[in-house]
Amino acid sequence: MNPNILNISPYNAEREDLPIKLDIMENPHNLPQKIKNKIKKKIDKISFNRYPSPSALALREKLETYTGVSKEVILVGNGSDELILYILLACGGFKKKVIFPTPTFPMYEIIGKIAGCETIGIPLKPDFELNCEGIIKEGKKNSIIFIAYPNNPTGNCFEIEAILKIIKETESIVVIDEAYFEFSKKTFVDILSQYDRLAIIRTFSKGFGLAGIRCGYIMANPQFIDCLKLVKPPYNLNTLTQEIALICLKERDIINGFIEKIIKEREWLYLNLSKIKGIIAYRSLANFILFKTKNPQSLYSSLLKEGILIKKVDDYLRVSIGKHKENKAFIRAVEANLKIY
Ligand code: PMP
Repeated sequence: MNPNILNISPYNAEREDLPIKLDIMENPHNLPQKIKNKIKKKIDKISFNRYPSPSALALREKLETYTGVSKEVILVGNGSDELILYILLACGGFKKKVIFPTPTFPMYEIIGKIAGCETIGIPLKPDFELNCEGIIKEGKKNSIIFIAYPNNPTGNCFEIEAILKIIKETESIVVIDEAYFEFSKKTFVDILSQYDRLAIIRTFSKGFGLAGIRCGYIMANPQFIDCLKLVKPPYNLNTLTQEIALICLKERDIINGFIEKIIKEREWLYLNLSKIKGIIAYRSLANFILFKTKNPQSLYSSLLKEGILIKKVDDYLRVSIGKHKENKAFIRAVEANLKIY
């Protein structure tokens, strides 16, 4: 066995189908029939016997329009997870450090270990801001620093000045993970071309509601992208995924409608969660809310018994934004449970 993976705990991503599933930040809206019909029509035209486009040119062209970043410096993969793997296979390895704030998306650490890097988590400050000095000290050089923006599970976007300081005061690679960009509408794209060591990853899993087709993309400088191409298998992104992502990029009005609905629901959920005695909820710019209560395990288990699945993260609980009916049921269940204690 590869010694790098001896001490890894596997990412627990077992699918659990409960009536109200608010655990892993999925978009609660399935694609509408209009888009599904377009996909069906497209399927009739696909040559399934042929390998997919290795460069996914058509998709990258559409992404250029969507992001404002040249298609030459965009690379696509099977979700952000695969892109994190490419980054670390290309830039990580022996004597390299992977640095991330904690708590954050666990895959930076897991993939960092797989790639043979030393992994270092730097705890966030009590107000969930970055410990900028700590990150700079550890990651001065030979490091790949991951910053989720907004962060999972805290839901906040870290102060821009702190992130810029990290980029400027280290000689390391800084990866900004904008998985929740469609909800936060905050991005580092505008300054991407100014820094050779900066990369941005995004996904279709959240705002676009396409977690099931696995599609993500990375934007970086040309040398960085060339480096990633050395580790990317030629036909990594299958034809169906490329076509469906393309169709959804063309149907932005419908997708945007869902995103706005989720943002509205997020504000509703935050307000109503905050009103409950015994709950401290944290403001979020993503499609989930982190909250605190005295006995998180007990509330988690009670909700589970009622068919509501959320996520326990250390001493906190995290709930994804669902449809209004689901959010209402969740609030009602939390209220009822906290009254009992
Ligand atoms: N980045 C962050 C910050 C996430 O929270 C998640 C998933 N929860 C991902 C990436 C995963 O994205 P993908 O589905 O594209 O692998």
